[in-house]
Amino acid sequence: MLNSRVRFRFAAIAALGLGLGLIPAGARAQNAPPTPRSVLGHAPGDDFYLASYDDAAGYFRRLAASSHRIKLFSAGKTTRGVEMVYAVISSPENLAALDRYKEINRKLTWVRGLDGQQAHALAASGKVIVHIDGGMHSSEVAGGQHSIALAYKLVSAQNDPEVDAILHNVIVVLWPTLTPDGQNEVVAWYRRNLGTRFEVSPLPDLYQEYVGHDNNRDGYMNNMTESREITATELEWNPEVWYTQHQTAPFPARIFIPPFVEPISSNINPMMMRWLNEFGINMGAYLDEHGMPGAIHRVGFDNWYPGFQDFTGIFRNSIAFFTETALYGYATPHFYTVRDFPKDFQNLDSQVLYNSPWKGGWWRLGDAVRYMVGASMSVLDMSAKYHEQLLFNKYQAGRDTIQQFTDNPPYAYVIPANQLHPAEAADLAKVLLTNGVEVHRSQQTFTANGRTYPAGSWVVLMDQPYAQLAKELIEPQVYPDIRSNGTPVKPYDVAGWTLPLQMDVEVDAVAAPVTAAQRAELTLLTAVAPVPGAVTGSGAVFLMGPETNQHFRAMNEILAAGGRVSLVTHGSAAVPAGTAVVSGLGAGRLIEVLNTVPITVHAAAAAPEDAAAVKAPRVGLYRSWNPNSDEGWTRWILENYGFKPITLHNGDIQASDLIQRLDAIILPDARANQMLNGFAPGTLPGQYEGGIGSQGVDQLRAFVAAGGTLIAFNNASQFAIDQFGLPVVNVLAKLKPTEFYCSGSLLWTDLSQPERPDTWGLPERAAVMFENGPAFATDKDFRGAILATYPDHVSPLASGYLLGANYLEGKAAALEVSYGKGRIYLFGFKPQWRAQSHGTYKFLFNAIYDSPASARPSAFTPAPAPTGIPVPGAPPAPRTGGRGGAGADPGVQR
Ligand SMILES: [Zn+2]
Repeated sequence: MLNSRVRFRFAAIAALGLGLGLIPAGARAQNAPPTPRSVLGHAPGDDFYLASYDDAAGYFRRLAASSHRIKLFSAGKTTRGVEMVYAVISSPENLAALDRYKEINRKLTWVRGLDGQQAHALAASGKVIVHIDGGMHSSEVAGGQHSIALAYKLVSAQNDPEVDAILHNVIVVLWPTLTPDGQNEVVAWYRRNLGTRFEVSPLPDLYQEYVGHDNNRDGYMNNMTESREITATELEWNPEVWYTQHQTAPFPARIFIPPFVEPISSNINPMMMRWLNEFGINMGAYLDEHGMPGAIHRVGFDNWYPGFQDFTGIFRNSIAFFTETALYGYATPHFYTVRDFPKDFQNLDSQVLYNSPWKGGWWRLGDAVRYMVGASMSVLDMSAKYHEQLLFNKYQAGRDTIQQFTDNPPYAYVIPANQLHPAEAADLAKVLLTNGVEVHRSQQTFTANGRTYPAGSWVVLMDQPYAQLAKELIEPQVYPDIRSNGTPVKPYDVAGWTLPLQMDVEVDAVAAPVTAAQRAELTLLTAVAPVPGAVTGSGAVFLMGPETNQHFRAMNEILAAGGRVSLVTHGSAAVPAGTAVVSGLGAGRLIEVLNTVPITVHAAAAAPEDAAAVKAPRVGLYRSWNPNSDEGWTRWILENYGFKPITLHNGDIQASDLIQRLDAIILPDARANQMLNGFAPGTLPGQYEGGIGSQGVDQLRAFVAAGGTLIAFNNASQFAIDQFGLPVVNVLAKLKPTEFYCSGSLLWTDLSQPERPDTWGLPERAAVMFENGPAFATDKDFRGAILATYPDHVSPLASGYLLGANYLEGKAAALEVSYGKGRIYLFGFKPQWRAQSHGTYKFLFNAIYDSPASARPSAFTPAPAPTGIPVPGAPPAPRTGGRGGAGADPGVQR
């Protein structure tokens, strides 16, 4: 009470001062900026205290009400509906002219219409825009505390030449955190456990609703709401520098800072990498200068995958990087002695890129916050000092990029409008546009490479500043063969991601310069219009071909609306197997239901005779307490395609009535031990301990034996093989990394029996995301079917890195294994990887529908056991489109 009264009196005095004109201009703020302690009751970094996002946003609001150095903006709402606030901090004069400075940055970023001299003049009159945030991994708690401390420091400093120079030359875009939902959740969890034996126990949930830690793997795809809002804000401000806080420092170093390790993408402007390295080296010196030893460079983290949200911007000529500060556990301090260090570090010797070894002692949240504030200040300090050069170099990087693709191929990319998956083609165009890449649409036909593309095709002209990002996402990756003692140096994330391969979208690179006449046919897009749904023909039954993912969404929507759906089991040239026959809804109601589904439905007078009815499948999704991003991605995809997945925790799996409740159960990618045993006893409060255990395994066996369908992704396949005693072997299990290595690469697979219902609609050759998964051989007792195999006599590598291709050739990538009355699908890859691999979703969707919800099994009794793996007859042909493509059904426009 006393405290608030004192503040009130101070406010009154300050207001009086304003009225009397006693406060100099520039400092004409309402109040002195409140300290964090005065608002929150604690300083950020205090032992055993964490500010939530709500606390932080509240504090930012108080700061903004007290100072002309800070303005608040909203980026939109999070997945859980919380407003995402960020602050813009600079001198009052700069904030008063924000629009002008944004415009200068926009012009320099987009280059066009500026010669070098004009760009120099703009750079001289502009302000560097620097993005800094409190991190995106909510369990890495210091970041969200650091942003409070940094905001206060910048807003409150008086007579501080360093801060004055920053405020004068830099516009700081400061986010309290990039994951508000997660910060609130983690802080609530810590507060609940504080003072108990579970004080530092991990959060048993994904802190971003769907993807948890993978929120930093969504940088170019922008599937998540938060990702889209963060990217849109970046495109609005065009920052020269982007800096994000993380907390997985390589022990015993106190902070990892750039330069990164090999490899890096060749699609990054070299000046951006030079600056990135310089920011890192400067940061190390700054930390040493300010009494913060233990910074290490060049360990562990590479610059390969463009999907890190805190790195994607480098392909937009923003100097984007992150650091990793040491963390013990939340706000709980910890004492380290040198004996705790790895042997190599116990002698405390200086190294070339670890100049000031940390000597141990207490490590507190306050230390992490101090290091982070120091690191952020070093970035701002350097940005202030080199403001003009940074601004000009952004222009120069854009100009160089335009020049590169004016003189060299690819001169453009074309996404043809007439292709098998129009919805996915539109999605790819949208992915590019969401990333700020300029995308055009052809008004008339567009001719290039001797091919005529129909009106409506999308064209990415490469003489644009963000061309490198388009190239990075579209071209196949060739991950370098870097070895350490013969073992491949694995990528920090994945090695290949090529979107046209993942999404099964045809994209052509244009090999000759695009002429003025060609350009005249193109219109620059501001949005990608959704592909409209439609009903063609006339009649009382409606047919939907199986080639698109939307087929499943449409079926789910129709069943949910009370319509009836049957699937054509054998098919013909006109009506391929897998075509859905819809009845029970009139055309008007059908259009209503399909309003948001981009699929064309063909009306016919009569239904094909061999169609089997399906029900809406009841699909359960196993969700361990150990947060699993693969589960979250799966849940997000299923929800988006209308499947309404039912979450199954350990207790739900252990219950005895699975077959009454569910048709199919999905086991996301996880190791067997994680599923079986979960968190060890004593590590979390009781209800979160343990896994599904033997009781859960028994119930899963009973579920499948009674006719249920079990679907296992990637390493969960090994769990199923072991626990169900399946006559299947992972042929890669015993290979050394010097013999076989493939982590996060796209590999070609061929359908073994394209007529099978569980592969309906899939292309005969599909690129799958292989991520340290298994590959299968079957033994003599095997009953079931091989769905897809890696091609024989040739490397299956489509994009990324593969060592030991010979071990995969001819081996099974996906199996359906009979078990009792049910079936188990084993996928040695991730058919739904990060909601990017649209081209292989149908493996999952078909498997879900190929369950008791479908009447199909009787028509497809499993064949007798084959022995060994069938070898495809011919060497792989060049990749073809899917079966039943355009023209298979003249009534259905694809
Ligand atoms: Zn992190």
